[in-house]
Amino acid sequence: MLEISNLHVKLADEDKTILKGVDLNIGAGEVHAIMGPNGSGKSTLSYVLAGKSGYDVTDGTATLLGEDILGMEPEERAAAGLFLAFQYPVEIPGVGNMTFLRTALNAQRQARGEPELSAGAVLKLIRATAKDLKIDAEMLKRPVNVGFSGGEKKRNEIMQMALLEPKMCILDETDSGLDVDAMKLVADGVNALRDKGRSFLVITHYQRLLDHIRPDVVHIMSEGRMIANGGPELAIEVETNGYADLKLQVA
Ligand code: ADP
Ligand code: MG
Ligand code: MG
Repeated sequence: MLEISNLHVKLADEDKTILKGVDLNIGAGEVHAIMGPNGSGKSTLSYVLAGKSGYDVTDGTATLLGEDILGMEPEERAAAGLFLAFQYPVEIPGVGNMTFLRTALNAQRQARGEPELSAGAVLKLIRATAKDLKIDAEMLKRPVNVGFSGGEKKRNEIMQMALLEPKMCILDETDSGLDVDAMKLVADGVNALRDKGRSFLVITHYQRLLDHIRPDVVHIMSEGRMIANGGPELAIEVETNGYADLKLQVA
């Protein structure tokens, strides 16, 4: 599904290299988790994959279903099946959530060569998805994320993901700042979307999310590289012993 090889990334306007040779292979239907200390480059990796500006790829490759994505525009990456749920969801004053979702959904369908859905059909679909995620109908009328609580913003990200039906879903610390119930809702939302044709990359600080979204592979990232890979037990080891111990072993 996603193949990243020797990816090197620097800041565009500064002489600072952040990713120093990232390798990652995610098969179709697999769920991979990335954990790692603050500042190791996890968000940078997700931004570069989604096509955020401000970063230069200086070496390496990234392909989605065999297609080079690094040369694509962000919307082309989305049309190819990539979705990023933000660590810090953006507030968009003046744009109603329902309008935003309908526009995104129909743009995605158009890019895939599928017919636009009627206003009524979109409304029905969005309402049903919101209900599954326990999102208040009132939140659909409000501007995107404006005045939403942390938990509501994260659930709104998962709702976008559910509607757009991406193939490769990247969740950047979607659990951070959530109470246990909100985290469980997010995890249930993700688990409901698990499918043999859909893969997930879950970036998290906390092992407890991985009790709910059980990953196939856990990677540990530190200083711009993957320093360890393992099964779910690796997340438990990190939770118990911290990253310092692991970095020492690697060194
Ligand atoms: P993580 O998500 O693992 O906490 P980040 O990818 O956010 O790490 O950051 C990796 C490193 O790159 C940090 O040292 C961070 O300060 C730096 N960095 C990322 N983006 C920028 C930017 N736009 N300007 C300056 N420094 C940045
Ligand atoms: Mg961080
Ligand atoms: Mg981050």
